Amino acid sequence: MSLSQMARSIHESVTLKLNQTAAQLRERGEPVIHLGGGEPKSKTPIDAIVGCTAVLNSGDIKYTPADGIPALKKAIIRYTEEHYGRQVRPENVVASCGAKQAIMAALIAILDPKDEVIYPTPYWVSYPEMVKLAGGVPVAVTAEDGSFQPTVDEMAAAVGSYTKAIILNSPNNPSGVMYSREFISGVVDLAARKSLWLIMDDTYNRLVFDGRAPINCYDFSSQELEQSQLIVVNCVSKMYAMTGFRIGWAVGNREVIGAMATIQSQQTSGPATPSQWAAVGALNGVQNSIEALRLTLENNRNILMDRLSTFPGVAATRPAGPFYCFPDFSSYEKSSQKLAEFLLQKVRVVTVPGKEFGMEGHLRISFCGTAREITEGIERIRWALDPTAPNELYLGDRRLVRDWM
Ligand code: PMP
Repeated sequence: MSLSQMARSIHESVTLKLNQTAAQLRERGEPVIHLGGGEPKSKTPIDAIVGCTAVLNSGDIKYTPADGIPALKKAIIRYTEEHYGRQVRPENVVASCGAKQAIMAALIAILDPKDEVIYPTPYWVSYPEMVKLAGGVPVAVTAEDGSFQPTVDEMAAAVGSYTKAIILNSPNNPSGVMYSREFISGVVDLAARKSLWLIMDDTYNRLVFDGRAPINCYDFSSQELEQSQLIVVNCVSKMYAMTGFRIGWAVGNREVIGAMATIQSQQTSGPATPSQWAAVGALNGVQNSIEALRLTLENNRNILMDRLSTFPGVAATRPAGPFYCFPDFSSYEKSSQKLAEFLLQKVRVVTVPGKEFGMEGHLRISFCGTAREITEGIERIRWALDPTAPNELYLGDRRLVRDWM
């Protein structure tokens, strides 16, 4: 029996695997603190539930157009007008099973075998695998100065004859960094000059802190939508805390969106009907849950940064959003994989190794949980690593004594 080369070349989603490990440990009664997750704790907005239950109660749940029901497209068009100042038509919009499928369909629509896709390091774990699934070659661009944002020149230097597309994700998973206006503007310009596709993954762009406002990539593009190679991706997953509904979308020129819709029609026949109605409810409903979530996350970020500042030897860039921090732990352990395993084993704290995001020595720490989880999680990590921390720790009623340093 043999699997395809493709199946053998694709890695499992590390973050989804960690969710599974944490759930299994919790089932066994282990006091796990999950600082590895990527979804807000808040509940689905009531308007989404009402929209979804109305269609469920009708009992009439059938196939929909593969690119989304007209009501959802209308809501996305209105969202695009309000938040991006662009008037788009239904042919410019495709609704997908999460932002993930929107990006995947876009990559399949634009890549030929061996075409390269460039994106900055650190990057969302799924980009390399998704590019490979679409037959392309992933190319990560790492800033020479060790920061989380390369320069436009560094991005430009990675563009070669095989480059077909760029992906930007700001604020960024895993670093929490929001790229500067200059950087985004420079990359929009670079893509237009080199006739490259630019996928703007705006999954997190509403969840930013300290008075920042989302950056609108269209501000830097003078091209008409039909001439533009910008594909803007968004979803209800994070801003409305609706990860389980699996609804995302893309906005772009008619040709690429049409191709994506055809791809989806053969892949999934489109997103699930009740989920689409839930997304309509969320997008058209009362919007205050986003601000409530944003404030909670900002507060969590402050708690996390306070805690990390007491940690000698850990360098952490203050996240501008949404719920990830990417501190450098290399003064304790160079291998992020080893460190994450050690922390899970010794103190039952889940983190994600930076290696998965293209940066060794770092751990991704999520602050989308409760304030208590963040405080206790960091306390446990500090106890495990910092020789100046007290020698004993209680995990529930279990007393631990540090005997490894
Ligand atoms: N882009 C980024 C940067 C993400 O972090 C995620 C989810 N972790 C997604 C896209 C996918 O979002 P969705 O759940 O809507 O597929």
